[in-house]
Amino acid sequence: MTLDDLAGQVGTAPSQLSLIENGHREPRLTLLQAIATALGVELATLLDAEPPSRRDGLEIALDAAQRGPLYAALGLPRVRAGKRLPTEALEALVGLHTELARRSSEASATPEEARRANTELRRAMRARDNYLEEIEDAAEALLVTVGYSSGPLTHRTVEQLVSHLGFSLHHARDLPSSTRTVTDLEHGRIYLPPASLPGGHGLRSLALQAVAHRVLGHTHPGTYADFLRQRLEISYFAACVLMPRHAATEFLLAAKRNRDLAVEDLRDAFGVTHESAAHRFTNLATSQLGITVHFARVGRDGTLYKGYENDDVDFPTDVTGAIEGQTVCRHWTSRTVFDHNDLAGEFHQYTDTPSGTYWCSAQTGQGADGDFSVTLGVPFAAAKWFRGRESTSRSVSRCPDPTCCREPSADLTAKWRGAAWPSAKLHTHILGALPSGTFPGVDDAEVYAFLEAHAPR
Ligand SMILES: [Zn+2]
Repeated sequence: MTLDDLAGQVGTAPSQLSLIENGHREPRLTLLQAIATALGVELATLLDAEPPSRRDGLEIALDAAQRGPLYAALGLPRVRAGKRLPTEALEALVGLHTELARRSSEASATPEEARRANTELRRAMRARDNYLEEIEDAAEALLVTVGYSSGPLTHRTVEQLVSHLGFSLHHARDLPSSTRTVTDLEHGRIYLPPASLPGGHGLRSLALQAVAHRVLGHTHPGTYADFLRQRLEISYFAACVLMPRHAATEFLLAAKRNRDLAVEDLRDAFGVTHESAAHRFTNLATSQLGITVHFARVGRDGTLYKGYENDDVDFPTDVTGAIEGQTVCRHWTSRTVFDHNDLAGEFHQYTDTPSGTYWCSAQTGQGADGDFSVTLGVPFAAAKWFRGRESTSRSVSRCPDPTCCREPSADLTAKWRGAAWPSAKLHTHILGALPSGTFPGVDDAEVYAFLEAHAPR
């Protein structure tokens, strides 16, 4: 029956019926009754939301999917869900449409989006001097409940704190490889990896990060940016508990008065890793001590893994403004520390850069992804508050001027271009742009210096 046939039988215009059919207009009850009579069905059948048959349901679903913006964007022809379309074809089309909708709504971040989100978050944190008062407050309120006063937070206290929040800690050897911890909300259990070292520091932090999602009222992250922000907030919370604002600030203010500030002292006073202490220092430096700072975690190859600054130090960036994965200047403390480190203490250096002179303190360590350095730096004028200010190590960085350390010298280039054949490593971390030398992914300056050092004389 065509629209015209039915319109003739119920005494209305075909255009009116079309509006009703497509859901643009509600029919009057009398018209509805007339349609039911013309079609030979009960009025109730017309009002039933359930499709009369599976085949009808598929036809409706296909029609709806093809009208959507997702399908329209593909610029493909519409398939008419008429009688001649076999049911298998209909099933297949509806199945594909359903999957297409699912995939497009999935919060899937491309590396590009991830880098942009990271950059936005870093800028937002810079605007707040890397200090989140509401999380500091939440952590302090919680510490009161377990009677904390000062010094390092023991595993026992962490356990009490977690149990105060209604959770218990359990170690599991078979945690899913893509997770750090898993929380069973139903039974209030937090599963952690086994303690690799008795009393390993990392576990307190992992347990605190797991409960932080609850404390901070996190809901399912809808976007990659949400996920990142939550990730930042839970590590911030863990740091606030392990190095509480009040106790840590008191400690740092006393050290500042004695002109004896040192990341290693903060680390030892609160029993945390050097990196955690350096990072925590950036939270409190500006807000509590009035000192602007920068922080960097850099691999032995110069790759910047993490960075924060509010002292205008010039981190290398890519076109999107992202710093992660970029290579820092060869003359920065983050890299010279690998040549000077006595393997025990911190290394201090003054570096002249186009944005000013900085005093930096760096320490090296070994991580799962190789050697790395952790650097905390301050503008020259603030060096007077720190232990190690008497350092005689000095360096000059002209980066981002490529002739500073990125390009090999003219004579080395003349000598080795064409005579060097390096085979590039495939980077497992695709954080950033690969160095672009004569060979993709290869740093010419490094290659030429190597050849120069090893060439037979
Ligand atoms: Zn440089």
